[in-house]
Amino acid sequence: MLIDPSRGVSLAGAASPPLEFAIGELTDTLSAMSGRPVPRVQKDAAVTVGRRSAFGAAGLPRADGFDGYAISAGPDGVRIAGDNERGCIYGVYDLLERLGCLWLAPDQDPLDPPHIPKSDRLDVPEGAWAVASPVRWRVCNASSWFFEMDTDIAIRQMDWGMKLRYNTMGWQAENRTPLLAQYQILKDSGVLRELTRRGMMLHGPAHSFDHFLPNELFEEHPEWFGMRDGARVKQVFGGAQFCWSNPDARRAFVDNAEAFALAVPELSVFCTLGFDGGPCCQCPRCAASEPADLVMGLMAELAERLAVSRPGLPVETSGGYNPVHEPPQNARIHKDVRVVWAHWGRWHGEGYSDASYAWKDNLELWRDAVDGRLTLTQYYTDNFAEPWVAAPYSRAIVSDRKWVLENGVDGWYMLMWPKDYWWNHSLNAMLGGRCLYDVTLDPYELTKQIARRYFGPGAGELLAEYWDEWGRNVELAYAVRDGSKPADRETLARQRRELIEPAVAAASADPVFAHRAGKVEKLHWMAERLTRVHAMREEIEALKSAGQPCEAELQQAREYTGGVLAFLHELADLEQGLVDRKEIPTFMRAKIVDWLEEVSDSVRTSP
Ligand SMILES: [Zn+2]
Repeated sequence: MLIDPSRGVSLAGAASPPLEFAIGELTDTLSAMSGRPVPRVQKDAAVTVGRRSAFGAAGLPRADGFDGYAISAGPDGVRIAGDNERGCIYGVYDLLERLGCLWLAPDQDPLDPPHIPKSDRLDVPEGAWAVASPVRWRVCNASSWFFEMDTDIAIRQMDWGMKLRYNTMGWQAENRTPLLAQYQILKDSGVLRELTRRGMMLHGPAHSFDHFLPNELFEEHPEWFGMRDGARVKQVFGGAQFCWSNPDARRAFVDNAEAFALAVPELSVFCTLGFDGGPCCQCPRCAASEPADLVMGLMAELAERLAVSRPGLPVETSGGYNPVHEPPQNARIHKDVRVVWAHWGRWHGEGYSDASYAWKDNLELWRDAVDGRLTLTQYYTDNFAEPWVAAPYSRAIVSDRKWVLENGVDGWYMLMWPKDYWWNHSLNAMLGGRCLYDVTLDPYELTKQIARRYFGPGAGELLAEYWDEWGRNVELAYAVRDGSKPADRETLARQRRELIEPAVAAASADPVFAHRAGKVEKLHWMAERLTRVHAMREEIEALKSAGQPCEAELQQAREYTGGVLAFLHELADLEQGLVDRKEIPTFMRAKIVDWLEEVSDSVRTSP
């Protein structure tokens, strides 16, 4: 049925900031689509938005779960009825998506704006449907919410995160500025105002034990700090976690953590973890216990305190992630304590439901220890431990989601890192958000729909096929980084010929579609260059093992790898979210170039 946007938009029932936000998103987007201002009216509107209670029950289906909504579309107009305020906003995005809109990536690239089709014929399917998520906390840890925040980009990423159906922003504080000073920046810059306008929640401040037991106390109380190789050390690189078995240290920690929780009303999950990368204290008392017993004892003391001063605020700390790998042996985990479980550097060719999944035993032990109060950290949106050219991780998403549903898991946390890969992993951010909100979505189908819309007619179908191939063969993404075989290189060459080049040609008439297809093409070039390095290495190693000279080949490879690094810098300089500049001279260089030095040394020293 056709919507006539000139009939306007109306609000049913009482207003609130998130409902006003929902109405604002709807009127702004419909106005942009139809090319005419869409009025706000009192009745007989084209679209009416409100809480379910404002509509009465008649004719509205219901889905069980969190942040749900129902939409009914009939001759009288469209009704969007949210089960809560966030549900109203999600319902608006559902309607706009059915009208052709798409927000694939955060609005950080002026040449790649949100996809808002221009049309005055707005066609919605007639009928009624309802959606809700089985997962209560769906945390978007967008890349600009880590450490020093760029607050303008942080707001753009939050706006996008809400559109992807996340309901909570993850905040990873930095460790040099006092926490409350960082909180003040979030407040003064409008980040928190934008968060509450959307009805979103705040999760964090993540790695932060060094804020609640600051290193400044070291001179006065060295015994509160961790022991490493016989000496007390601070919570810094090369140091250790503080002494979790020291009762005075724990009390000081809980005092400071409680003061923080009381000062930050937006905090909805108090997630606090040890400083990143630090081993446990090795003092005799700490060494006698499983790290999880100690840290869960600390969290229980914090939860008991907050049960009085800030009831209802869950406390969360890490499990599976170093230095707390195994679940507690003796301590029961407090009923208000959650565990954020993380398998850093996992392989996305399998998921939690697969019998072959590498960490299944550890995951299931933690599930049992915490009675299902798990937040699962996902690295689908990570390009640090995961491939540099990301594949759609649909295989892992299907298997992980099955496990989430079968085990009643209520927390889902998407870690997006490093910062300047934000476009590279945006498709996985969308799949991971949308598919865990509406669990009936098939990530393979959704990927194709996204590609058709994002790249436009012509290129869309070709790049839908391209993404689909990568999604079904995630091994290719890992091979591009870690070492490819000739068959992988043939696949890349075929994809360039049959999919990438025709797509780029088909998109060339439209500047926005051309720009978008160009991003895929650039990442594909990157994949081909990286795998060409593997081919050179194979050739040189074959010559060496045959006792043949290979100096000329080595020289050629030195020049070629130098060119690959220069190309990566060019990609980073485009600022299109393809590559993080800081990674190139460090981790990327190590993989691309270091083997050459090893081979050269062995060539020089061989008789
Ligand atoms: Zn200790």
